Amino acid sequence: MNGLVPESASSDPRRSIRERVFVVGAGIMGSGIAAEAALHGYAVTLEDVTEELAQAGLGRARHALDGAVEHQAISSADREEALRNIDVAIGLRRADSAQIVIEAAPEKLTLKRDLFRELDGAVNPTAILATNTSSLPVTSIAAVLKDPGRAVGLHFFNPVLRMQLVELIPGLTTRPEVVARGRSFAERLGKTVVLSRDTPGFVTTRALAVLLNEAAWMLYEGTATKEDLDAAYKLGFNHPMGPLELADLVGLDTALSILDILWEGFKDPKYRACPLLRSMVEAGHLGRKSGEGFYTYPGRARPDGGPAP
Ligand code: NAD
Repeated sequence: MNGLVPESASSDPRRSIRERVFVVGAGIMGSGIAAEAALHGYAVTLEDVTEELAQAGLGRARHALDGAVEHQAISSADREEALRNIDVAIGLRRADSAQIVIEAAPEKLTLKRDLFRELDGAVNPTAILATNTSSLPVTSIAAVLKDPGRAVGLHFFNPVLRMQLVELIPGLTTRPEVVARGRSFAERLGKTVVLSRDTPGFVTTRALAVLLNEAAWMLYEGTATKEDLDAAYKLGFNHPMGPLELADLVGLDTALSILDILWEGFKDPKYRACPLLRSMVEAGHLGRKSGEGFYTYPGRARPDGGPAP
C-alpha cells in the first residue's frame, strides 16, 4: 500500500479508490480540486467557514463538472458519480477521517499557518497535509506542525479540471515518503507533476507574476491599450489569453499578493508591483470574481471564475 491506494484497488482508479480527501477552503481552487478528486473516485469533503460558503463551493464544483460534460471530457454518469462523492463541512472537525488534506484558503501566510496549527490537532497522524499555495514558503507553513515532515506543496492550476500541471514543492523538512504520496495523488488525478524547490513563487508563479506585472506597467505607462497589449501577447507569442485577461481570471488581489511575496522574498525591484494594480485592488476591482478588473464582466461573475457570459 502506498498510503493512498489500497492494494486491492482495481485497475480503474475512478471507481475503486475510497480514500478521503479533505479540502480546506471552498473557493475557486478548493472547489476545482474537490471536483477533480471526486471525479477520480476519492471521497471528498469540501470545507469552508460557513455553510453558505461551503455550499457555494459545491455549486462551483458542480458547475465545473457541468462544463466538463459540455466539452465531452466526461459523461453525465461521471458527473453524477463525482457529485455523489462530495460532501461539505464547516470547520475542521471532520478532517480526522482524511488521508490527504489540501489547504486552499486565501494566500496569506498567517492564515495558512493558523490553519495548519489547527489541522495538526484535527487530522489523523498518518495523513499528509498539502498546501495549494502558489507562492508562500511551504517550509514556513509546515513549521507550525508537530511533525513538519508530513507537509508538502501541491500547487494546482485554475481551472483545475482543465489544467494539466501540478507543481510539487517539498519543504526543507518534508519526508521523501510524503513527497511520493503527494506525487502519487496528483498523478492519480491525471496530472503531470513538476518538482520545484521551495523558493518564493516556485517556478510558475514567479514567471507569471513578472508577466502580469509587466503588462500592467505597460498599460499604466500608456505603451498600448489593454486590448492591444492582450492581442500582442496572444498573436505574438501564441498565448491562449492575454496577460490582462489572465490577471482578471487569477484575481488582481491574488496577483498583487504574489508580487508582494516575491518582493519580500527576493528584495529584487523586478517584483515591484505596478501602482495601477494596487489601486485597482484597493478599489475592489479584483477581476472576474468581482465583475470588474482590467475588463468589465456584465452581470454576475461566474461562480467558477470562468469566462463571463
Ligand atoms: P478564494 O478566495 O477563491 O477561496 C478561498 C476560500 O477559503 C474562500 O471560500 C474562503 O471563505 C475560504 N477560507 C478563508 N478562511 C478560511 C478558513 N480559516 N478555513 C477554511 N476556509 C477558509 O481563493 P483561491 O483563488 O481558491 O485561492 C486559494 C489558494 O490557491 C491560494 O493559496 C492561492 O494562492 C492558490 N491558487 C490560486 C489560483 C487561482 O488562479 N485563483 C491558482 C493556483 C493556486
